[in-house]
Amino acid sequence: MSDIINILPDSVANQIAAGEVVDRPASAVKELLENAIDAGAHNIQLIVKDAGRTLIQVVDNGCGMSDSDARICFERHATSKIHQAGDLFDLHTMGFRGEALASIASIAQVELRTRKPDSELGTVVVIEGSHIESQQPCSTALGTSISVKNLFYNVPARRNFLKRDSIELGHIEETFKRIALAHCDIAFSLHSNGRPLYELQPGNLAQRITHLFGNNYKERLYAIEEQCDIVSLHGYVGKADYARRTRGDQYLFVNGRYIKHPYLGAAIEKSYADLIPADQHPAYFVMLNVDPSRLDVNIHPTKTEVRFIDESAIFAILRSAVKKALGQFSLDNQIEFNPCTEIDFTPAPKGYTPPAPKVHYDPTYNPFNSHRDTSAGSQKWENFFDTDTPADTSLATTPADFDSASNSEAPQHDTLFPMADTKADDQMACLQVQRRWIVASLSSGLLIVDQQRAHERILFERLCAHNAPVNAQQLIFPINCSFQSADAEALNELLPMLREQGFDLQPLGGNNYVAVAVPDAACEDNLQQLLDEMIADFKASLLQSADNSRQQALCRTLARRMAIKAGTALSQEEMQQIVADLFRCQVPTTSPSGKKTLTILPPEKIME
Ligand code: ADP
Ligand code: MG
Repeated sequence: MSDIINILPDSVANQIAAGEVVDRPASAVKELLENAIDAGAHNIQLIVKDAGRTLIQVVDNGCGMSDSDARICFERHATSKIHQAGDLFDLHTMGFRGEALASIASIAQVELRTRKPDSELGTVVVIEGSHIESQQPCSTALGTSISVKNLFYNVPARRNFLKRDSIELGHIEETFKRIALAHCDIAFSLHSNGRPLYELQPGNLAQRITHLFGNNYKERLYAIEEQCDIVSLHGYVGKADYARRTRGDQYLFVNGRYIKHPYLGAAIEKSYADLIPADQHPAYFVMLNVDPSRLDVNIHPTKTEVRFIDESAIFAILRSAVKKALGQFSLDNQIEFNPCTEIDFTPAPKGYTPPAPKVHYDPTYNPFNSHRDTSAGSQKWENFFDTDTPADTSLATTPADFDSASNSEAPQHDTLFPMADTKADDQMACLQVQRRWIVASLSSGLLIVDQQRAHERILFERLCAHNAPVNAQQLIFPINCSFQSADAEALNELLPMLREQGFDLQPLGGNNYVAVAVPDAACEDNLQQLLDEMIADFKASLLQSADNSRQQALCRTLARRMAIKAGTALSQEEMQQIVADLFRCQVPTTSPSGKKTLTILPPEKIME
């Protein structure tokens, strides 16, 4: 039999390797930026066109390459960073496998211009699909400029797999931020389609954070610092007030490299245990430095996972550092979170007599009839209070339901809240307990409603259904807002959705806008923060490619902002209204984020 094994040509082998190293424009960006850093550059420019599809260019003022290095760097396993296996255990560079440039050159049209300080002329190499097309002397600035054009031009499957530009650009931006945060002493800029998105001067970490994320981050962070033999760490952690539902701004670095480390991430999040709700996440920017020999280096360099030998010790040190920062600086929070001992309830109005129990039901009602009138006169809750059937307390939490609010047909609760033709303001005595819960007596037991969560649910459904009369309130004093360039770009995409919700933002040029109307007075205070938060949620939903949930995410953020907060005293009418509105919701039992809104204590449980 004839031999059947042959060695793959380099161009094919490189393309296969490229599949691992470069899966989207952002991963090429990461490799090129890291090479520039390894080259000792202190000024690095990143230029992209069409979210990196057409062009990714990185210009650095690093050490440059000699004529022959400029050619050899595109060979597989061409690296100047390790010479022997032992070097692997003392790595201080970002790359070391000599694979990135070979991979990129196999799937794109690349032009490399480079010059070393000791030579007057530089060299320009053109390479396409692993094939060197030309090399010539050229005059060029000191350092290296590499242009990667038409990424995946010869891998249509990959090219077709790319997401739309705003998503790919989002990934590039995220990569850029991670690298820029880890190297505050280097000047970076990012231009997209000719527009500057970031221009970062060298500085300290705090300055870098505010340049990347906006000036208002100054007030949102506490500094942390700890030094010991195992680890030295420094950075910033977010104040509890600014915790968010998305894990957006969480950055952990070890020895100048961004890492994902759920275990150490948990060390930080756990420090907030009593300060923020379980479904919210603090921002953090934490730099760890450990002896490289105490890190597992046997990892794929494009992956962000690492292993520490002293993992549990580092966990404990990190946690105590964060707790110290929170404890030292957040006395006001502690006061707020002290359990309130005062019992505060609003008595029933004078002369109030509870109504005699009566059973209402609509014999024509069909729960599978998809069209439901939710306007006044078709309240479903009322009967709930009068019913003789013991309340089904198992209805209390069905987190899977919480996103289904926008699917207008969800008959599951109708059997529990049969229609009745009574008015919402029919008398029902409500008590407010600790300015947080609304308590009412039902024949089936004791109803306890969490006022804030209930109101969030009510607003969320109204916002999702667009049936809220969008009562945009014209502002007497319009509010100026300004955004990071990259955020302003996202805001432009978001504007139509915001308009539907009652925000009227007019562009003032540059990245400045003026708000002339908002949907609710609650949006007026700190409007900038609300908009920043909505943009961040929006960008996070872009990265998760969750197209369909974008609108819901927006409604959730808005509902959270506009809802009556725990701690607000409510009048009898307000309480009745909340309870009535809640039971008109499609998913009355859970808040938009899946928490219980209500509980019913059946009589036998009241005094066990
Ligand atoms: P690695 O970074 O793993 O060594 P790469 O394929 O990314 O592999 O780069 C190959 C080599 O090319 C590097 O080791 C370095 O010597 C050289 N090189 C790449 N980019 C630059 C740059 N911007 N400036 C100077 N040298 C560079
Ligand atoms: Mg490299």
